[in-house]
Amino acid sequence: MVRVRSSLAELPAYVPGRKAPGAAALASNESPYGLLPGVAGRLAELAGGVSRYPDMGATALVRAIAAHHGVEPDRIAVGAGSSEVCGQLLHSVVGPGDEVVFGWRSFEAYPILTAVAGGTAVKIPLRDHTLDLDAMAAAVTGRTRLVFVCNPNNPTSTAVGERALRDFADRVPQDVLIVVDEAYREYADPERVPDALGLLGDRPNVVVLRTFSKAYALAGLRVGYCVAPMEIAAQVRKTQVPFSVSALAQEAAVVALGECPEVARRAALTVAEREGTALRLRALGFEVPQSQANFVWLPLAGDSADFARHCLDGKVVVRPFLGEGVRVTIGLPEENDAFLALAATWRG
Ligand code: PMP
Repeated sequence: MVRVRSSLAELPAYVPGRKAPGAAALASNESPYGLLPGVAGRLAELAGGVSRYPDMGATALVRAIAAHHGVEPDRIAVGAGSSEVCGQLLHSVVGPGDEVVFGWRSFEAYPILTAVAGGTAVKIPLRDHTLDLDAMAAAVTGRTRLVFVCNPNNPTSTAVGERALRDFADRVPQDVLIVVDEAYREYADPERVPDALGLLGDRPNVVVLRTFSKAYALAGLRVGYCVAPMEIAAQVRKTQVPFSVSALAQEAAVVALGECPEVARRAALTVAEREGTALRLRALGFEVPQSQANFVWLPLAGDSADFARHCLDGKVVVRPFLGEGVRVTIGLPEENDAFLALAATWRG
């Protein structure tokens, strides 16, 4: 009998948002607007070339990302989605038994990827549905190698502010890597939620993680990246699965980055829909924490499964976290209206 790693045996598998034929897909935090205008044409042009390997260094994409952020290309490392980059970061700094600190609940890949890397997850409970950065800093020990700060936090949608983030970074020793995961950055209010690259980007132990899967509408192509100190980016590149970012993904991301005004326009539509949806949910009596992302969080505790089932029966797929709450992605206006009608009739 083959022996599997005991650390993986008890680990829950990643649960992706469901898809149901004919139902509104509000379970996976995707963009509802489809591909950005120039992307489909470029993909069609390139499709015939995929019998060849992609550019291993993703040179054009790395250059475009670096220009977008105003940093040197040496500071960029890419991966097949920011999920892969999370894994690359862990593999770069975590050895057997090392500790990885993150808030909980947060992005469900963190504990899985931590265990795969051989690390030990240290989960710090949220406070008011928000990362408790004080408690997270206090949880850092001599064995801690990496801390994930998911801002805004998935699935609770809340964000931490500038002072809290800076104080946190001041308290964490410089030999511990702080990974600020900004997957939902484009939906956050820049007045209230700091851009970690601007705030902490000059620190030797801070990495900022971004993705093309949300606001850039490329979830199916799998591209993400980090902006890191140069030496760390070099390590992160070594841990990438060779050629994991396909040529189509690289080129689509370059085109998408060139369409920032359209990305911002769509994000503003989502933010407006989010605020309207939250308002109407509160008027129905739901608790809705202030979201800074493209989804809202309903902390329904023991009612979460029942609420999600009610929505699914009404052809809207949402994402329940059993015993905790339900995450609802902001979709097209008609999808959000369909969801709100179901929320209004729940137990009605
Ligand atoms: N970070 C956070 C906080 C996320 O919510 C997600 C997607 N659910 C990711 C990273 C990974 O996204 P991707 O791998 O598609 O870039």
